[in-house]
Formats: sequence, C-alpha cells, structure tokens
Amino acid sequence: MKHKGILIVVSGFSGAGKGTLMKQLVHAYDNYALSVSMTTRDPRPGEEEGKEYFFVSKERFEEEISKDGLIEYARYCDHYYGTPREYVERQLEKGKDVILEIEIQGALKIRQKFPTALLLFVMPPNVAELKRRLEGRGTESQEVICQRLKRAAEEAEGIEQYDFIIINDKLEECVQEMHALIRAAHYTPLRNEELIENIRKELDALN
Ligand code: 5GP
Repeated sequence: MKHKGILIVVSGFSGAGKGTLMKQLVHAYDNYALSVSMTTRDPRPGEEEGKEYFFVSKERFEEEISKDGLIEYARYCDHYYGTPREYVERQLEKGKDVILEIEIQGALKIRQKFPTALLLFVMPPNVAELKRRLEGRGTESQEVICQRLKRAAEEAEGIEQYDFIIINDKLEECVQEMHALIRAAHYTPLRNEELIENIRKELDALN
C-alpha cells in the first residue's frame, strides 16, 4: 500500500531530550524529513545556522509571517519560533513523513490546519531528570532554566491533546517505539480517506 507522507508533531518539555531523539530517528530510518524552524532566539554554542534553526531578526520573522511563509508560529519564552512552509509541503509531496519539533501552541494550530497530523508528546522519566538534563546542558542561565521549568508546568496542562506520550528513558527503545507508532498511524482510516473512497467506488460499480 503506497502512503502519502504525514505530518508528525513532536512536543515535550525543554530538556526532555526531543532533539537527540529526533536526530536518531532520522538517522535510523530514511522515510523522515526533519523540518528546520525559524527563530529569533540567539544560537546556543555549537548550534549552526540552517541546522538546528534559521536564526533571524524579529523584523525578518515578522516579514515571513506577513508573506504567509510559515505554516504555524508561536511565541515561547520571549522569542518567536515558526515552521517554514515550503520545505514541509515539498517533503510531504515526496511521500516523506515530516517531523516538526514544536511547542504546544504550534502543535494545536497544526492539528486545526492538518487534521491528519500525528501529535506526540515526549516526557522525561521524571521531573528530577528533567531538571538534571536542563542544568547539565550548561548552555542556559539559571534564570532561563527557571523560565523553562515554569513553561513546562504550563505545557503539562495540555498533554491530553496529544495522540501519544513517549517516555524518553532509554534512547534506542524510544526511537523504535516512536517509529512503530508512526507506522501504525499510517493505517488509520482518517489517514486513508482516498483509499477507502476508491474501494467504495469500485464496490458500488459492481452492484
Ligand atoms: P529551544 O529554544 O529550546 O530550541 O526551543 C524552545 C521551544 O520552541 C521548544 O519547545 C521547541 O520545540 C519549540 N519550537 C521550536 N521550533 C518551533 C516552531 O517552529 N514552532 C513552534 N511553535 N515551536 C517551536
């Protein structure tokens, strides 16, 4: 059965390990395309333009909004983050499953615009581990870490809006679990309307 690509939204608290998870997933299987977002926040040490993000000014970001160049955008901890439209549309067209690693406001906008999108929420095994990972990263000030933990509490309120939760404990297992969930999602009636419609037409033609 040939499938069209689907949009996969991956959210999770800052420090939940989404980034590493996504990189491993894309590395392990070739049917995924990872969208690179645009942001107005500064690059962290080691982050490269066009790899983790497209780092732009507020003016440039607002210009992109007015051109309808983003399929969604949101403000998160005083900065803009958004998903460039062109790449996503091109990859879906090619049959790739496109992964958007975005926060909850964006996730809910995607669900409205693309009802077949699959929404996954990545959680750390516990909050102590989350705090440890955020601090261990060593790239953010204590103030930013506090801000992000506060934001995590807000985001936790919206977890029920997602299709599945994934506990990021053992990385390898987590990658396989995520892949299996995405494969399964391809077989739901919601994501196969065309196929179902065709079968119905053929059956009708027989009767
Ligand atoms: P960070 O600054 O840690 O890279 O990202 C902060 C938050 O913004 C994370 O929850 C991340 O998933 C989210 N984010 C990254 N890109 C986008 C985007 O294009 N749109 C939205 N809505 N959120 C994004």
